[in-house]
Amino acid sequence: RAKASGRACHEVFDTEMHTRVVNLLQLENDLRRAVEHQEFLLYYQPIVALATGKMMGFEALVRWQHPEQGIVSPVKFVPMAEETGLIIPLGQWVLREACRQMKAWHTAFPDQPPLSISVNLSSRQFSQPSLIKQIRQILDDTELEAHHLKLEITESAIMENPESAMDMMLQLKAMGIQLSADDFGTGYSSLGYLYRFPMDLLKIDRSFISRVDVDGEKLELVKTIITLSWNLGMDVVAEGVETTKQLAQLKALKCEYAQGYLFSKPVCSADAEKLIRADHPFKDISRALLPTSRL
Ligand code: C2E
Ligand code: MG
Ligand code: MG
Ligand code: MG
Repeated sequence: RAKASGRACHEVFDTEMHTRVVNLLQLENDLRRAVEHQEFLLYYQPIVALATGKMMGFEALVRWQHPEQGIVSPVKFVPMAEETGLIIPLGQWVLREACRQMKAWHTAFPDQPPLSISVNLSSRQFSQPSLIKQIRQILDDTELEAHHLKLEITESAIMENPESAMDMMLQLKAMGIQLSADDFGTGYSSLGYLYRFPMDLLKIDRSFISRVDVDGEKLELVKTIITLSWNLGMDVVAEGVETTKQLAQLKALKCEYAQGYLFSKPVCSADAEKLIRADHPFKDISRALLPTSRL
């Protein structure tokens, strides 16, 4: 009997495995076609300066416009794109499109302080020596000033090959590009790598921010991260701010910037443009805190 049920288990497992493999192959195929046909688009999420409530810039977040499935989240395909190397052409497209769009907004709204554009780099891209040349070409072609471009890099991308990462980062910095430490706090060697690498901006991961209003320990941790960033000469962005209470805590800690659904979800370029056009779109959110909020 044991043997029989053992085999039954095995069969279920095989079927599941089979389905998974077929799905993965299908995804890989679809993704290849999508890269060829450029089925991608960028969404933009505002990053807000907490002192003024004004937008500092946007983070560009890729979406897949799938012919049958509609808009697909990057969580569903970026890992596969990384595994297959498709992230190289996809990432190139993202960089070019993000820079092109931001330059177009600078040109269209010359009276507004120029916004910055943040672009995520995967480890595969980041370990490609030709990245520097590609970015230089993109900045040349789009005429976006380098200091309006911020590249978001995670700890794991840096730690995969610290020496070449350092070399790459120094070259990017020399070009005037700013570097952000993305998802800070989720890695292993977080503190060490901050000291070693020349980063301008630290983005505190959403997992810390999401409980900052109810969990005293998290609040202490965020406070410590902010102080540390300042000591290292970095500004701080809080990721995933969803409530006014979280916002109030972050303002009290003098955190410089925030990003999250409280202000806006990532939106398509037309809606992002509406936010630029609306002078001070987050006035009410920032103001709501002022008179009565208690910490
Ligand atoms: P990320 O770089 O940490 O981007 C932030 C993610 O958090 C975005 O998810 C954003 O929609 C989400 N988010 C922002 N505010 C909130 C909030 O208040 N609540 C919640 N629950 N979520 C919030 P998204 O767009 O699904 O992107 C997921 C991840 O995919 C990104 O994390 C990034 O690692 C990766 N990704 C996105 N676009 C690109 C890209 O162009 N290239 C590469 N290599 N990776 C990308
Ligand atoms: Mg990011
Ligand atoms: Mg992040
Ligand atoms: Mg994240």
